[in-house]
Amino acid sequence: MVLDMFNLKGKVAVVTGARTGLGQGMAIGLAEVGADMVLVNHSPMPETEKMIKVLGRRCIAIEAELSDINVIPGIIEKTIKEFGRIDILVNNAGIIRRAPSLEFSEKDWDDVIELNLKSVFFLSQAAAKEMVKQGGGKIINIASMLSFQGGILIPSYAASKGGIASLTKTLANEWAKYNINVNAIAPGYMETNNTEPLRKNEGRYKSISERIPAGRWGKPEDLKGAVVFLASKASDYVTGHILCVDGGWLAR
Ligand code: NAD
Repeated sequence: MVLDMFNLKGKVAVVTGARTGLGQGMAIGLAEVGADMVLVNHSPMPETEKMIKVLGRRCIAIEAELSDINVIPGIIEKTIKEFGRIDILVNNAGIIRRAPSLEFSEKDWDDVIELNLKSVFFLSQAAAKEMVKQGGGKIINIASMLSFQGGILIPSYAASKGGIASLTKTLANEWAKYNINVNAIAPGYMETNNTEPLRKNEGRYKSISERIPAGRWGKPEDLKGAVVFLASKASDYVTGHILCVDGGWLAR
């Protein structure tokens, strides 16, 4: 039955940036269809942990500053020690810095690129080594509308998300032969901490809201269906794809 293909019982999923926002929503979605969870964040995630345990899933929370790639071996080790495998990796942790490009600092460039792009590559590489041994896996990167559009005042963020789109495709090409699917989800404008400054700016909030065909901003729950699809057997022949969950933003 097709619905059985979406069942993740017995699978182990690692979700980064699972304390709030989209990472929290996706972690809960994966747990709802049966996955045991490894949550990774630089700060504690008691709320997400509790919501997953209520669903009856096993869950460990690993505190790690992901902008430092030296934390990666420890994340893999703890996951393997607890669960013995990694089936799904969702590279969600990400930050944004806003400033005019003429004044943009080296720190705002490096901080964003290190977390949003460099750590995604090296965590994917480390997880893929386990997946190769296991005979396959699913890697899901979180892209953005800025993987397709330039935006304004966010040069390092746009560069990082453009990079995520390319990285998704190159890893998909290389790792398809190991049964590792590498895809991305590109969320539209979602109500999370990341977009709080935009939503507080009356002019920007109004102009963005008016341009969304669905007539509303997205919520973390809106990503549950897409992440479960890309994490499950239902997407076994889908790789290198960037799935937009944007209320029609890009179609406009
Ligand atoms: P958010 O700020 O609520 O979530 C980011 C998560 O990453 C948080 O749990 C945060 O604690 C964690 N995090 C931040 N820095 C970290 C670090 N150095 N190490 C470990 N964890 C860290 O915002 P969000 O909107 O849920 O963002 C999640 C992802 O979605 C990001 O990659 C973001 O770029 C992307 N995204 C968001 C939107 C949107 O409209 N909100 C749109 C497109 C893409």
